[in-house]
Amino acid sequence: MLRSALLAASRSPQVRTVVEKFPPTHAIVERFVAGEALDDAVTACDDLVATGRKVTLDHLGEDTQDAAQAAGTAEAYEHLLTALKETGLAAGAEVSVKLSAVGQFLPVDGEKIALENARRICAAAADAGTTVTLDMEDHTTTDSTLAIARELRADFPWLGVVLQAYLRRTEADCREFAGAGSRVRLCKGAYKEPESVAFQGKHEVDLAYVRALKVLMAGEGYPMIASHDPNMIKIAGQLAQWNGRKRDSFEYQMLFGIRPEEQLRLAGEGNTMRVYLPYGQEWYGYFMRRLAERPANLTFFLRAMATRG
Ligand SMILES: Cc1cc2nc3c(=O)[nH]c(=O)nc-3n(C[C@H](O)[C@H](O)[C@H](O)COP(=O)(O)OP(=O)(O)OC[C@H]3O[C@@H](n4cnc5c(N)ncnc54)[C@H](O)[C@@H]3O)c2cc1C
Repeated sequence: MLRSALLAASRSPQVRTVVEKFPPTHAIVERFVAGEALDDAVTACDDLVATGRKVTLDHLGEDTQDAAQAAGTAEAYEHLLTALKETGLAAGAEVSVKLSAVGQFLPVDGEKIALENARRICAAAADAGTTVTLDMEDHTTTDSTLAIARELRADFPWLGVVLQAYLRRTEADCREFAGAGSRVRLCKGAYKEPESVAFQGKHEVDLAYVRALKVLMAGEGYPMIASHDPNMIKIAGQLAQWNGRKRDSFEYQMLFGIRPEEQLRLAGEGNTMRVYLPYGQEWYGYFMRRLAERPANLTFFLRAMATRG
């Protein structure tokens, strides 16, 4: 019921106008999104890097309707990567890309268009001296996203992929993606998924996260622990020790605006701490869909407003 209402609202221009003008929404959005313009993103990135954190930037935009829009998103990433190179930020900042934003869902040749646009972004990242991570969306896209990742990795072996611990398939995917040099971002998963493909309760998801993390930490790749959960962070540290991992062989990741003091603590201890930093004009859809995809996210965002630790 709540999910349907939020999804309907995410597509309504009338509701959009109201929400965009509603001051409390702005307060929340400003906390989680760097701003609408490229300059806002670069400034926020610079601020984070100055505090010893690394960054992954997401140019907001999903729901791509046509090939021109998909190409426009790839171009926006190229501009971003040029800006990171020119400002000297590329050493501390990479980009995260949703394949749906570069055409994956287009009815004709969607996967091919997404692959080519993602390839453009990877080439720009290589030129800037940084990397790209492909975000993961709902489970219907997992096979397609991993297939595109495998293809891109032939030319860009540093390409990162996201695996979602709540999916029953993920432990097996971790085994495939735990090879030498493989950058894998492990998150719990943010979408509403059916029981047939995903663990449902928090406890079950947490256990699945730890099982997946054990595989990644024991492997030869580069695990990226994307969680705000103190238990997951503690367990990640222990697993790193047990597997004899050096601090530069894995990293922690959190969303911009969530647990900033914990981010600084982890960075201050000599860990790599990367902040996921979204920016762009499409924040409304991003924000509403995040709430709709998993109603628990509503609590997640509201709690973040109340707790800064
Ligand atoms: C860098 C990054 C990239 C991501 N990329 C993707 C992606 O590509 N695809 C995808 O599906 N999902 C992605 N996610 C979202 C992810 O799947 C989860 O929905 C989200 O991170 C919440 O899960 P959690 O691990 O933080 O723990 P939760 O189970 O939500 O929370 C566990 C505990 O963490 C602490 N905590 C959580 N939130 C807060 C808060 N706001 N303030 C204070 N404490 C808090 C609390 O102690 C809480 O009990 C990403 C997350 C991150 C951090």
